[in-house]
Amino acid sequence: EQKQTINFGAGPAKLPQSVSLEPHHFLILFQPEMSHRSADFNKILDKTEGLMRELLNIPENYKVMFLQGGGSGQFSAVPLNLIGLKEDRCADYVVTGTWSEKAAKEAGKYGKVNIVHPKLDSYTKIPDPSSWTLNPSASYVYYCCNETVHGVEYNFRPETNGVVLVSDMSSNFLSRPVDVSKFGLIFAGAQKNVGCAGVTVVIVREDLLGHALKECPIVLDYKVQAAMNSLYNTPPCFSIYIMGLVLEWIKNNGGSAAMETLNKQKSSMIYDIINASNGFYECPVDVTCRSRMNVPFRVGKKEGDEALEKEFLAGASKRGMISLKGHRSTGGIRASLYNAVTVEDTEALAGFMKEFMKEHQ
Ligand code: PMP
Repeated sequence: EQKQTINFGAGPAKLPQSVSLEPHHFLILFQPEMSHRSADFNKILDKTEGLMRELLNIPENYKVMFLQGGGSGQFSAVPLNLIGLKEDRCADYVVTGTWSEKAAKEAGKYGKVNIVHPKLDSYTKIPDPSSWTLNPSASYVYYCCNETVHGVEYNFRPETNGVVLVSDMSSNFLSRPVDVSKFGLIFAGAQKNVGCAGVTVVIVREDLLGHALKECPIVLDYKVQAAMNSLYNTPPCFSIYIMGLVLEWIKNNGGSAAMETLNKQKSSMIYDIINASNGFYECPVDVTCRSRMNVPFRVGKKEGDEALEKEFLAGASKRGMISLKGHRSTGGIRASLYNAVTVEDTEALAGFMKEFMKEHQ
């Protein structure tokens, strides 16, 4: 008999149970030969876009695209499409972790990148926005709303004084409500909160289309993809289908506001144990920006006791809790508590953390 496992991985992440059972139906109903230009696939695409618009209350003057190339593809697509919005070809980047750092580096290939604050020694906080040097003639300001590796999440929206705001929401997409009208562009890889790997959602304000640099690859050109309803080339059909099912599940479970309530409850459960552990568990992230999606912590002492952490991971795995190992660049433990991770799943982890501490303190 197969033991039930709980996936706390940072992505590809757990799918809602109702959805993970569904692909069997899919393989019967949705033949691999089915053309992406067929009426049946168009229905799937329309349904998925409709749900996305409904759940995020996306204004009409925004396009929604389902593209390939992952979040990393967008690190290039964003500057290729937007850095030419203004003649200077400058963009402001707030660098608060690995993912915004990579995005800034990529943008540097296509224009001038201004990092708005001095380099951080460690990615454990967000520098106070009053200390940022924003360039008023930047084409856009870019930030990563939730740094998946470090567990650093914005609980505010940066003020850009009219400059276009761009956000990578890959790892906290639809985990809470967001006012899309305040953004020029939002993108998110699906494999954390809204489905499986292979599709990246791009939501972009219409007036920003048509400014791509001439060297922009055509598959990354937002104007082309928007005009073709994401069908310039073969889209990731299966991943779009799964995303539709996950969006339906989010809707049936109360939408983004309900997700936010649950995500606060789940993450508090784990942070409360860390805070009350007298240093047995340590989260390096500043309390003002601790992520509700990815909770990184060390076991045993501040910098981590690697032997004890190994034992922690082995014990968790024995109880069916997997993918808790921290990112290779940070070490330690990371519990990812995306939408599909339930309160019961989180309680299982919390229970184990308490038990482990009792045994080893
Ligand atoms: N942005 C964020 C916040 C991420 O967490 C990741 C992947 N973990 C990426 C971008 C890169 O996404 P991909 O692997 O789909 O290119």
